[in-house]
Amino acid sequence: MILSGPSGAGKSTLVRELLARCRLPLRLSVSATTRPPRPGEVDGRDYRFLTGDQFEALRRADAFIECKEVFGRGHWYGTPREPVDRGLAAGEWVILEIDVEGAAAVLDKRPDVITIFVHPGSREELERRLRTRGTEDEGALRRRLEVAEREMRFLPAYRHTVINDTKERAVGEIERILESYARSPTALPTPTPIENWEGKREDA
Ligand code: ADP
Ligand code: 5GP
Repeated sequence: MILSGPSGAGKSTLVRELLARCRLPLRLSVSATTRPPRPGEVDGRDYRFLTGDQFEALRRADAFIECKEVFGRGHWYGTPREPVDRGLAAGEWVILEIDVEGAAAVLDKRPDVITIFVHPGSREELERRLRTRGTEDEGALRRRLEVAEREMRFLPAYRHTVINDTKERAVGEIERILESYARSPTALPTPTPIENWEGKREDA
């Protein structure tokens, strides 16, 4: 399963809650990154924090399912291949929390992947959450908001859209989506109404 959405949408928050309460055998894929850890982030749990050289060596060794430079600031992010293959082979549901382009790269190889796009409902709420999180300086925050505008355009390519209004409700909705696939693994994905950033239908 892939979970995408703009930075600040609440992906990490929802995944943490999902892992704690969902009865399915979920496993979170821990991405590698060259960005520095935020206060409280733990190597191996939140990310594998690598130097540029370490990341490049793994990239050359084809150790990533997908990888890319996100936000154009020289910080690379990638999905390590081996833990994902191991999890899938063991019958686990592997969650990739990755950006829209990473998702497109994975979909090319695995068209059967469940894709969920999370957003907080409005630009104002996204900005408020990023400010409340307080992990970016003003410049980085502005860039994330700009990137968010671009990322929102990928929303229609996802099988499901979940608005993270309240954590409880949004996690419950993701759980129900996953359980519907657990009940009928071969079912075609249910199309969800395509909504734009402000929750209006694209064709409205
Ligand atoms: P992401 O992983 O998408 O970048 P985070 O999980 O770090 O986003 O969430 C961004 C901020 O929003 C955090 O401060 C988090 O506590 C807060 N947040 C997440 N979900 C909600 C929610 N449903 N309501 C209010 N605040 C939320
Ligand atoms: P953050 O720096 O806020 O943790 O993450 C920034 C962005 O990088 C988010 O949109 C997140 O989904 C994305 N990201 C995290 N890990 C990966 C990854 O392995 N691959 C890709 N393509 N994007 C990732």
